[in-house]
Amino acid sequence: MGTGKTVYALRASNQVLKKSTSGGAFSLIVDAVYQITNIDDKPPVVYGAAFDNELNVLHSGAESRQDCNKFCGSKYVQSKIRDSLPELAKHLKHGRVVVFASVPCQVNAVKNYLKKKNINCEKLFTIDLLCHGSPSNNIWKDYVEWLQKKRNKKLVNFSFRTKQNIHYPYYARAEYSDGSYEFATQETQLYIELFFSSLAYNVACYHCKFASEERTGDLTIGDFWGVEKVMPQLPPGKGTSLMIVNNEKGQILAEQIRNMTDVVMQQCYTDEYINYQDTLSCPVKKSSFYHKFTQDYASYDFNYVAKQYLRYNFRGKLRFILKKAMLNTGFMEKLINK
Ligand SMILES: Cc1cc2nc3c(=O)[nH]c(=O)nc-3n(C[C@H](O)[C@H](O)[C@H](O)COP(=O)(O)OP(=O)(O)OC[C@H]3O[C@@H](n4cnc5c(N)ncnc54)[C@H](O)[C@@H]3O)c2cc1C
Ligand code: SF4
Repeated sequence: MGTGKTVYALRASNQVLKKSTSGGAFSLIVDAVYQITNIDDKPPVVYGAAFDNELNVLHSGAESRQDCNKFCGSKYVQSKIRDSLPELAKHLKHGRVVVFASVPCQVNAVKNYLKKKNINCEKLFTIDLLCHGSPSNNIWKDYVEWLQKKRNKKLVNFSFRTKQNIHYPYYARAEYSDGSYEFATQETQLYIELFFSSLAYNVACYHCKFASEERTGDLTIGDFWGVEKVMPQLPPGKGTSLMIVNNEKGQILAEQIRNMTDVVMQQCYTDEYINYQDTLSCPVKKSSFYHKFTQDYASYDFNYVAKQYLRYNFRGKLRFILKKAMLNTGFMEKLINK
């Protein structure tokens, strides 16, 4: 980064890692806020993204440490924050400690909202995620409907990235109301493929002014991609977070985490990690099929674009099975590292 910011590689306990997408930085930061909150005060209110009963992704507040767990795990969908803003402002007005964690454009929106309302933000802690884009809730809900129709049962939970597979970090898991589930099938991977295809992000993501070293949160967290090359001394583990300290409030929380037991926390003294994080320098590029996809999506349905753009057909199925077999045996990894 060359900005003189302090950067850490962070890994929480195995128990926390299991429920976290990366190294569990989010949960550690929440723990830190709880620890520094005066015990005579009410507990902090933490805002993050969670599913509602219909699998919409919404920001809401959690008033107990246990309830914050609903925010764990990335939901690769644009979260709706608007309804939570008046309540968040009210908590700050009443002197509560508040944490707001989200993608950087939404952290910025919250700060602007509070500024307009003239709210004192001394007790607000903000966390922004490294972010290359998010599809709208509408596309996500179309996918949910498509999957439910295909399986003829109600989807009740979806993990976009499970840690069940060591060779490939993006296997998804769908859970149904009858207790059944599917993991890493062509159908669960379809949404993940859409997410990474650069076809379906919100328009603003392709011009994102937050894809830069200037961050909106007190702390920035994300996946520490390339950690095995940038910090080879770090023992391998199931996920590592990158944490960037952006200001004094962030530093207070980082110091608190440093004193925790059962946490791997090492400062990164080189700027090399930037080479693995495009989101720190430029917005995501549109796929060359973006315009056609957008037109087709408006004219047809999810099933049509799945077949046309995401290879949801017989050849795609064969390709999927082959690729999965290679990933599961670590063949691809060996090939890349050769
Ligand atoms: C849309 C999106 C794009 C991302 N792109 C990148 C990227 O390009 N590079 C990178 O390194 N990391 C990216 N991330 C961040 C990464 O996936 C992890 O979320 C992050 O590292 C935190 O992981 P964790 O282990 O600390 O905690 P976890 O417990 O896994 O993370 C939970 C945190 O993520 C927040 N969150 C979950 N879903 C959403 C959502 N839809 N909108 C807003 N906040 C949400 C929760 O509120 C909570 O604060 C992205 C995340 C999202 C949601
Ligand atoms: S890429 Fe930018 S505009 Fe899109 S969700 Fe992320 S921060 Fe917001």
